Amino acid sequence: MNNYHAFNEQEAVEYARSLKGLFSPKAVLESNEIGDGNLNLIFRIWDRSQPKDSVIFKQALPYARVVGESMPLTIDRARIEREMLLLHNQLAPGLVPQVYGYQDELALTVMEDLSDYLILRKGLVQRKLYPHFAEHIGRFLGKTLFFTSDYFLSSGEKKQRVVQFTNPELCKITEDLVFTDPYFDAQTNNYNPLLKEKVAQLWKNRTLRTEVQKLKDTFMTRTQSLLHGDLHTGSIMVTDSQTRVIDPEFAFYGPMGFDIGAVIGNLLLNFAAQEGHCSSLEERKAYQTYLLGLMKQVWDEFQDEFSRLWREYNDETFYYPYVRSYLQEVLQDAIGFAGCKMIRRVVGLAHVEDLECIQDPQVRFHSEKLALAIGIKFVLHRKEINDILEAALLVRRVRTEEVKSNEVN
Ligand code: ADP
Ligand code: MG
Repeated sequence: MNNYHAFNEQEAVEYARSLKGLFSPKAVLESNEIGDGNLNLIFRIWDRSQPKDSVIFKQALPYARVVGESMPLTIDRARIEREMLLLHNQLAPGLVPQVYGYQDELALTVMEDLSDYLILRKGLVQRKLYPHFAEHIGRFLGKTLFFTSDYFLSSGEKKQRVVQFTNPELCKITEDLVFTDPYFDAQTNNYNPLLKEKVAQLWKNRTLRTEVQKLKDTFMTRTQSLLHGDLHTGSIMVTDSQTRVIDPEFAFYGPMGFDIGAVIGNLLLNFAAQEGHCSSLEERKAYQTYLLGLMKQVWDEFQDEFSRLWREYNDETFYYPYVRSYLQEVLQDAIGFAGCKMIRRVVGLAHVEDLECIQDPQVRFHSEKLALAIGIKFVLHRKEINDILEAALLVRRVRTEEVKSNEVN
């Protein structure tokens, strides 16, 4: 990392100017650092005379931005992210930003500017409808998870890819923040003081902690497919008709259910948050029903795509009828991981805007309690779920119970 240094806006412009063919030689370039993420710098660079001519520079910092220099973090994550983006462009074209260039020493990726898109999480907070999102993400999951698995790659290629995408430092963040810290009194935890009693119960729940440990074991040891690794609704950008998956710096070989569970868990965090967002009962109910429909559709699309590809690409190497029980296990993993993702966003270090934008702590408490209750039920009962509709029913049941318990108290 000898030639590494972090850009400021002016340096980003100068660097953009030095890249032949990126902008017209007459371009008058301007730049803004727009990163709202936790880890990296994001520069938007555009030509003042042709504002549509624009690119994004994403540059990794040698530490985690959210914590500061006291938390060093490898800049090799920029290589992993770029290699993953390039591969995603091949496997699921049109569903990720295009990569225009990169410079590994600077930990820099030059990519398509998606400023016309909105981060999905923000759209869901505004209760927007996205008629194509579930189909797009289901297809993205089906393609990326199938084409990087042993069911498509040769045994040798697969193992090479595992080496290429070994990502220990970013995996460790997930191991700690998702599977470890929320389950004891860790310093990193951060929760609404009104939840104190609920959190104490969580820490004492031995069955839950054992089940989370099993999921952590699966996360750490199961090299099923090349995952995005951080596929929450803040890593998806949308318009009414388009969907793009960004930010795969956590990519690694892991269990497929982890990516699917990230989508499901984050849709359900929004479901829980809606309790505190919307004063019209009718409107809230309609949107919550919509979110459950999205969850089902994402799974159905994934399942159809994955099964179709398995049938299309397999000879006798793998026995096709096995796909049913294989996907049943993926569903149960996905539900378990979705549960872990929900719990960590309530108890752990990093929270989500869906819940955080509820100003009144008492109102937020009800949404957080619901998210926690769904998360716990998902972890504990995942093995009883054989159909995505059963997961939706479980969510409804937990919500009804929570509403009743709020009325009694
Ligand atoms: P981090 O890895 O630091 O979390 P992200 O890749 O999630 O960074 O990007 C942070 C923010 O920058 C996103 O939430 C989005 O608003 C913006 N952003 C990232 N990539 C693009 C892009 N290609 N086009 C437009 N905006 C982007
Ligand atoms: Mg990131």
